[in-house]
Amino acid sequence: MYETVVTNVRLIDREGAFNIGITKGKIDAITKDEIHGKNSWEGYGDLVLPPFVELHTHLDTVLTAGKPVSNQTGTLAEAIEIWTEAKSRLDIEDVSRRAAEALKLLISQGVLFIRAAVDISDPDLRALQAVLKVKETFSSIIDLQIVAFPQEGLESKENQEKMECAVRMGADGVSAVPHLEKTNKAGIDSLDFCFKIARKYEKFIHVFCDEVDDPNSRFLESLAELTISQGMEGKVSASHAIALAYYDDDYAQQVIQLVKQAQLTIVSCPLVNSSMQGRFDAFPKGRGITRVKSLYEEGVNVCIAHDDVQTPFYPLGSGNILQAAHLGMHLAHMTGTSELKAGLEMITAHPAKGFMVEEQYGLEIRKPASFITLPAATLTELISHQPSCRYVFKNGKLVSSTQPKMTTWHVPF
Ligand SMILES: [Zn+2]
Repeated sequence: MYETVVTNVRLIDREGAFNIGITKGKIDAITKDEIHGKNSWEGYGDLVLPPFVELHTHLDTVLTAGKPVSNQTGTLAEAIEIWTEAKSRLDIEDVSRRAAEALKLLISQGVLFIRAAVDISDPDLRALQAVLKVKETFSSIIDLQIVAFPQEGLESKENQEKMECAVRMGADGVSAVPHLEKTNKAGIDSLDFCFKIARKYEKFIHVFCDEVDDPNSRFLESLAELTISQGMEGKVSASHAIALAYYDDDYAQQVIQLVKQAQLTIVSCPLVNSSMQGRFDAFPKGRGITRVKSLYEEGVNVCIAHDDVQTPFYPLGSGNILQAAHLGMHLAHMTGTSELKAGLEMITAHPAKGFMVEEQYGLEIRKPASFITLPAATLTELISHQPSCRYVFKNGKLVSSTQPKMTTWHVPF
């Protein structure tokens, strides 16, 4: 007799219906045999997956789109302008309330590992104070990594001190935005500073890298080289890497090899970047994502993230990471059956590696019983329909359940 049993679920790569037995919060059995538990949940033939992992979101800006003004041009420049004004009068209670609301949205859609970049350029690090508070509140349900994110750069002494202060307050990782610094040299210096702090406090690095439609933005190469020279392989991620799509093929291939050697995790954000990038290109316009397919084929740990949910940077978004995978597979030209499987890996196993939780992650005996079930018969159906999770389990406990949508016909056929 197990403590909890979830019956009649399908695995992505095995035929037939399985039952999962849970003991002391761990997976104790995955079997076709009939098993019984003190608590039992009917799985209705749903797909069962390990939880989704969101490697790039923002809990300080979240759910502020249109409050009080909307980004009319849709550009990064106008978004930064709106956010700069808003953060000058940021209220800790307001940030906490929005962050909590967003986390509930993500959790109910199966995301149990979340990496959130928090802007550290507001007065008194209020955004960070708020997100740290929310992290504490949700600590039994999700793993939340906070990245100290210097939206206004790292050139000034003041911003450098804020970065160090953020780490002392509890940020788990550090970031830089080299392409937004005033000069190329300042961009390289920002990466150097980021590595200095990461090594001093033993933190991971997650850089917002080359988020521009400009082949001259070459910070990904520098990031990979620094990762190798500083011995931080496997502990560094880069979001966006849009410029890689604009490099000529020879240079792009050279950078991809360096990225692979450095064991960088590359995070593509197709929802935000397909709408924001390519705006100023002449036709034909860029697709707004990095070279996802080439990176994947070369064995780089490439991931897809949802990124913003209703912010000045991106007014849309439901927090459903399957929507990001769905769009990502379109933009990356990856709609073959095995490529759709790769798309699923990009929101599960790959970001779990970037999150550095591989040993605790996956549907395997003795691993934590944290998993999700979704009403879809096949992978193609899952990616096409992007359903909400029927069940979200964390360490053997049911966290949330959502009724699948159902259509009733009122006409004869
Ligand atoms: Zn972002």
